[in-house]
Amino acid sequence: LNPSDYIKEHIRTVENWPQQGIMFRDITPLLQNPKVFRVLIDMFVHRYMDAKLDMIAGLDARGFIIGSVVAYELNLGFVPIRKKGKLPFTTVSEEYELEYGSATVELHTDACKAGDRVVLIDDLIATGGTMMAGRKLLERLGATVVEGAVIVDLPELGGSELIKASGLPLYTVCNFD
Ligand code: IMP
Repeated sequence: LNPSDYIKEHIRTVENWPQQGIMFRDITPLLQNPKVFRVLIDMFVHRYMDAKLDMIAGLDARGFIIGSVVAYELNLGFVPIRKKGKLPFTTVSEEYELEYGSATVELHTDACKAGDRVVLIDDLIATGGTMMAGRKLLERLGATVVEGAVIVDLPELGGSELIKASGLPLYTVCNFD
């Protein structure tokens, strides 16, 4: 079994959660298994160990779990991009559209410096809205987002295609149709 399939095998699908008709891809079984968790983290670490990064950014909330461990292993700092109203200091914020309504993500204005090379990590890409908003925040501070990285892509929702078309490289470990 290759590492991607091994990881995919440990993602659970929960039907009709959080709403009727949604197939939620749940990474908690993966995190719970020390061997699978290590294989996952090692994939990210090996991918970025020579990328001359300055920082890892993670998206609220599962991006924090993966991103902070990857940052630690690469001897880099970690910056959280949070949902609205959670960060105490001065922030930049980006609102983006959801299927019903909108969401806002925020980043501390001193989270990174102009010219910093950052990889942006989350657990999953659906429509791509969250990743695109996070990228905009980092770019507003002058950082260069080298790549977005997630465990799961849902290609049918078109988010990963949109992100790549916008010029941001995207690394995805596995996908679900
Ligand atoms: P997007 O903005 O539509 O790409 O949605 C991605 C965001 O929603 C990520 O931060 C994910 O954590 C979360 N998300 C959406 N669907 C799922 C899912 O099936 N499993 C886990 N997270 C999800």
